[in-house]
Amino acid sequence: MAQKTLKIAVVPGDGIGVEVTPFGVQCLQAIGEIYNIPLQFEEFDFASVPYYKKHGDMLPKDWKTTLSQFDAIYFGAVGMPDEVPDEVTLWGSLLKFRREFDQYVNLRPCRLIKGVKSPLADRKPGDIDFWIVRENTEGEYSSIGGKIFEGTDREIVMQETVMTRFGVDRILKYAFDLAQSRPRKRLTSATKSNGISTTMPWWDARVREMAKNYPDINVDKYHIDILTAHFVQKPDIFDVVVGSNLFGDILSDLGPACTGTIGIAPSANINPEGKFPSLFEPVHGSAPDIAGKGVANPVGMIWAGQMLLQHFGHTEAAEALLRAIENVLGRSQPDVLTADMGGKGSTQSLGEAIINEVKSFR
Ligand code: ATP
Ligand code: MG
Repeated sequence: MAQKTLKIAVVPGDGIGVEVTPFGVQCLQAIGEIYNIPLQFEEFDFASVPYYKKHGDMLPKDWKTTLSQFDAIYFGAVGMPDEVPDEVTLWGSLLKFRREFDQYVNLRPCRLIKGVKSPLADRKPGDIDFWIVRENTEGEYSSIGGKIFEGTDREIVMQETVMTRFGVDRILKYAFDLAQSRPRKRLTSATKSNGISTTMPWWDARVREMAKNYPDINVDKYHIDILTAHFVQKPDIFDVVVGSNLFGDILSDLGPACTGTIGIAPSANINPEGKFPSLFEPVHGSAPDIAGKGVANPVGMIWAGQMLLQHFGHTEAAEALLRAIENVLGRSQPDVLTADMGGKGSTQSLGEAIINEVKSFR
């Protein structure tokens, strides 16, 4: 069957983003060849500090038109805070993509992989395997608020949470659909309706309303405080966890942290309707402290590519790429693994091991 070509804009960015991106692209190319997925890559040098220094801006004027022609953005990392402040680099690129392309879902897997040491004792691969769905556009991160009597002892500071029915329902629908696609069909909602008395009870009501459309999903909710404790103490109970912008932000760092090094975790910023491109990136940043040394773990970038395949419905290929990652990490070879995983290897040794593993599936 002829398949639609997936057009991928590759934006390596800065620091270790530049070092890990080629391995991610090569993994995708190898998988694409085996599973007959036509992939087309185009690399861009914008959204980086060198581009900023040359052009005085992080992006070209026509960036939106340019990137809109792609299905996905495969993003490394941006920022070199010693050279240009993060506000300039981050707000001038990555956060612009998320906002202008209405990537209202932030999706992260929380999956314990064999060969990766979890900071949680007695957890085996298979024990932890769930998804975190974060609302990415509204909620607590609004710019509505202000200060009065500033600098005096009567100082008052306020910042409003803004939730809309449109915004909350669409993230809940995404989370319920995801739960529906999973064998366990379980959805957990993060709330705090005992302390936040307007928005959170309303959020809970929207969850109950949406649940009516999904009678076979087992729905529960926890207050954010006990939910974070459960992430650590009984992560095996979760399947899909959905949270507002702030709660989702906290959970989506805590979850991957429970399953090992920051170097392996991926993240997707999704516009589910496909009206705009979605963005796939590693959770980690540009890591200036290790940049240029060739020692960055490429797995977060490669796994982000795996999420890309999954998002576009290439399930078999996505499963194969995840298996390749798991096989290589599971062998725990010190010469192959990077230092953050206790190895003596390099970006290249680990990246190439995964590419070769993929090729062995042929
Ligand atoms: P962000 O840019 O997302 O705000 P950050 O700048 O706070 O993140 P990172 O760049 O992710 O943080 O780096 C945090 C720490 O983790 C650094 O010490 C870095 O060396 C380490 N680290 C990050 N990514 C990797 C990786 N892929 N391999 C090995 N170590 C990594
Ligand atoms: Mg950073």
